[in-house]
Amino acid sequence: MTETLQLDALGDLQRTQYCGDLRLAHAGEQAVLMGWVQRRRDLGALLFLDLRDRAGLCQVVINREANPELHARASHLRSEYVIAVSGQVVRRDPSTLNPNIGTGEVELIAQRLYVLNDARTPPFLLDADPVAAEETRLKYRYVDLRRPEMQRNLRLRHEVAAAVRRYFDGNGFLEIETPFMTRSTPEGARDYLVPSRVQPGTFYALPQSPQLFKQILMIGGCDRYFQIVRCFRDEDLRADRQPEFTQIDVEMSFPTMESIFAMVEGMLVAAFAAGGYRITTPFPRLTWEAAMMAYGSDKPDLRLPAMVDVSSAFAPEELEQLKLRADLPLFAIRIPQVGDLSRRERDELRPLVAERPVRLFEDFSRLAKAFPTTAARVQERSGAEAGDLLVLVGAPLEDGKAAGDARRQRLALCGHAGALRLALGQRFAERHGRLDPKDFRLLWVTSFPMFEWDAEGQRWSAAHHPFTSPLDEDLGRLVSDPGAVKAKAYDIVLNGTELGSGSIRIHQTEVQAAIFRQLGMSDAEARQRFGFFLEALQYGTPPHGGIALGLDRLVMILAGHTSIREVIPFPKTARAVDLMVEAPTEVSAVQLRDLGLQVRKPS
Ligand code: ASP
Repeated sequence: MTETLQLDALGDLQRTQYCGDLRLAHAGEQAVLMGWVQRRRDLGALLFLDLRDRAGLCQVVINREANPELHARASHLRSEYVIAVSGQVVRRDPSTLNPNIGTGEVELIAQRLYVLNDARTPPFLLDADPVAAEETRLKYRYVDLRRPEMQRNLRLRHEVAAAVRRYFDGNGFLEIETPFMTRSTPEGARDYLVPSRVQPGTFYALPQSPQLFKQILMIGGCDRYFQIVRCFRDEDLRADRQPEFTQIDVEMSFPTMESIFAMVEGMLVAAFAAGGYRITTPFPRLTWEAAMMAYGSDKPDLRLPAMVDVSSAFAPEELEQLKLRADLPLFAIRIPQVGDLSRRERDELRPLVAERPVRLFEDFSRLAKAFPTTAARVQERSGAEAGDLLVLVGAPLEDGKAAGDARRQRLALCGHAGALRLALGQRFAERHGRLDPKDFRLLWVTSFPMFEWDAEGQRWSAAHHPFTSPLDEDLGRLVSDPGAVKAKAYDIVLNGTELGSGSIRIHQTEVQAAIFRQLGMSDAEARQRFGFFLEALQYGTPPHGGIALGLDRLVMILAGHTSIREVIPFPKTARAVDLMVEAPTEVSAVQLRDLGLQVRKPS
C-alpha cells in the first residue's frame, strides 16, 4: 500500500486552480493542483502524469535529475490515484504542444508531490474509446462520472436547470414543492407504492406528476407555479424513459393557450442558450389532425419534407387498376437527394412495410411509365426534384373491409405512411444529410383528440389526462361522438421527440364530472379517486392551464446523446435496477412485519 497523507499534512498548500484551467495561468506562475492520475508515462529521465479533475486534464512533468526523490515517489503512482502536486507553470516547447487537450500549450514542472489516496485498478480505462459496456459504467458510476464527457453532461444539466429557474423567477413564477408521498395521480402509468407503517394495509403512491397539486395551487391563489420535480412511473422502459425522471412542471392561472406558448418558448430560448444554441420563436404550429395527415405522427420531425396526399392526382380507374382504395389517402413520401436506387436497394424497402396493411410503390419510374401524366402531377404536388426518392403508400383495395370506422382506418394509414417516412429518412440519412441533431426544429402540436379508444378495455380513455378541457365547441358531442371531441391540449415537439405536453384544464365541476362519466367512471368511483379534487374545484377555481417538459430529454438532446441515462447521474437499467447501490432489494422480516406485509414470491 502506498503511503498516503491527510490533507492537513500539506500545511498551507492549497489548491490554486483546476487542472483543466491551467491554461489560464501565466508562465512562471506557481500552481497547486489536486486531482486523479489518468496516465503515467515514464520515459526514464522524465516522467509525465496526465492529471485530471472536473475541469479537464493537464500534464505534469517530473524530472529525475532535478528531483530524484519526487521522481521515485511518482514512479509508484497508478491510474486514479489521488494526488496533490505543486510546481511551476511553463509554456510547452512548440514541438510538444498537444492540441487534443485544452491545456495543451502549458505544463506543470512538479516540485512537490503528495499522494492523498491510492486506488484499485479502475474497472475500465477512462479514456478508452469506446468506453466500457454500460453495465460496467453504471456499476462503477463514480468512476464513470469522472470522465470529461460525463462532467460536461452534469454541468450542462445544471446550467439548463439554472437558466430555467432564472427565467421563471424573472417572470414572476414561484417554485413550490409538492409531496412525493401522496395518492395515485392520473397520468395513466402504474404507480410506485409506499406502504404505511402507521396505518397497516394502506399505501402512499409516488406521484406520476404533480398534476393535481399544481392545479390545487392555482385554486390556492398561487397564480404562477413551476417546479423542477421528480416524477415516478412504473412502466416499460426505453432509452428515453426511466422509472424516475425529472419534469419542468408549469401551471398558470388565467392563461390563454397563446400566453402559455409564449412563456414556454421564452423558457426554451433560455434553456437552449444555456446549452450554447440560439433558437428562434415563435415556433410553428400544427393541429394534431394536420400533423397526422402531413407526417403520420403526432410528433413530427420537420427536418424531412411532409407527406402529400396525391390521391386526387389519379383518375378513379387508375386507382382501381393499382388496386388502391379511393376513399383513403395515397401518400407521396419524398426523401430529398437520395439519388437513384439500385434494384436491390429498392427491393430492400419492401420489408419496411412487411407487417403493415399498405400498398407500397417503391419504383416511381415504373409508375411514371404506366401513368406519365399522373406521375408528372404527383411529382409536381410533392415538390420532388431530380435525385429525390419518391415512394407512394396507399390502402389496398382488398382490405376494403378493414377493421374500424373510416376515421380510424385513415389514421392507421397515416401512421403506417409516417413510420415508413421516418424509416426511409433514417436509412438514407447519410445521403441526404438532413437529420442533423443540432438542427433544432421545434413546433407545437395542438387540438389533440380528447379520448382514445381502448380496444382491450372496450372503453374510452383520456388521451392526455382527465383534467384536460375539451374544446368549447365540442362539449355538445361528448356523449354522442366522443371520438371527434378535441381537447385544449398541446405538445411541444423537437425533431420527432415529444419534449413536453400540457393543456388548458377543466375548471368547472360539472364539466369535470361529465368527463369522468364519459371515461366510464361512476360518480362514486370518481369521488373515491379524486374526491378531494372535485371538492376543491367547487371553492372558486380560476381558469388555469400548464405544461410539463422532460428535463432529461431536453438535456439529452442539447448534449447530443440518444439515451437519457447519459444525462442522469444515477440512472437505472432497462430492468429498473440501480446497479451501483443494487436496488431494489429484499427487506428484512422485521421491516415487513412492521409494515404488516407478507411477500409472496412469484413462482
Ligand atoms: N402532468 C402532465 C404530464 O406529466 C403535464 C401537464 O398536463 O401539465 O404529462
